[in-house]
Amino acid sequence: MKGKANTQKVKAFFKKNIYYIVMVVCILAIAAMITVAVVLGGKDSVEAPAPDANLPGDVTEQPGGNVNTPDDDTPVDTEPEPEPIVFTIPVASGTVIKDYAMDSLVWSSTLKQYRVHSGIDFAGAEGAMAVAAYDGVVSDITYDALNGYVVTVDHGDGLSTLYGSLDEPVVSKGQVVSASAQLGAIGVSATGEMADGDHLHFEVRLNGEVVSPYDYLTLGDK
Ligand SMILES: [Zn+2]
Repeated sequence: MKGKANTQKVKAFFKKNIYYIVMVVCILAIAAMITVAVVLGGKDSVEAPAPDANLPGDVTEQPGGNVNTPDDDTPVDTEPEPEPIVFTIPVASGTVIKDYAMDSLVWSSTLKQYRVHSGIDFAGAEGAMAVAAYDGVVSDITYDALNGYVVTVDHGDGLSTLYGSLDEPVVSKGQVVSASAQLGAIGVSATGEMADGDHLHFEVRLNGEVVSPYDYLTLGDK
């Protein structure tokens, strides 16, 4: 009698608490599965890729996070450095008879006074040719008593060169010239510098302003 009563009590207990018992079993089972998964995961992690693997989709899905692309070897807005412009010496001899002097005064034997000098005067043998210092287009040819024949070559990007005191230009306006192309024989057409003899008055301008020819020109003896 007593045993039967106990069995019934146990049955009643299970009946009453079956829900909790099943839950406990389930929790134990899940715990066991997690343990197994962790142990196995440590062994062969190759089969279980980490969630933060380098998937392109992961990059944009991180809110507010730093965007780090895995293969970030593409250059970031780096424009290739432009090749520095190097002028050809505009008269083969390269003999400077009056230097560029915009910050100081040089004696003008023609005008009998100290003046700034906006270019370099190159002397040369009679009939020596002035040549283009750099590739460009002949943008202007002018004549006036003070500067004589002046050929202007436009090199683009606001850079131009002026060749003054020419005897007579051998190019025409609009002509495309490359560096070393002949522009005209040096002369004494610039009465403002006529006491200097046959020479080229060479001037460099950037956006219309006189700049030092030495920004672009290197002379062997300087
Ligand atoms: Zn000059």
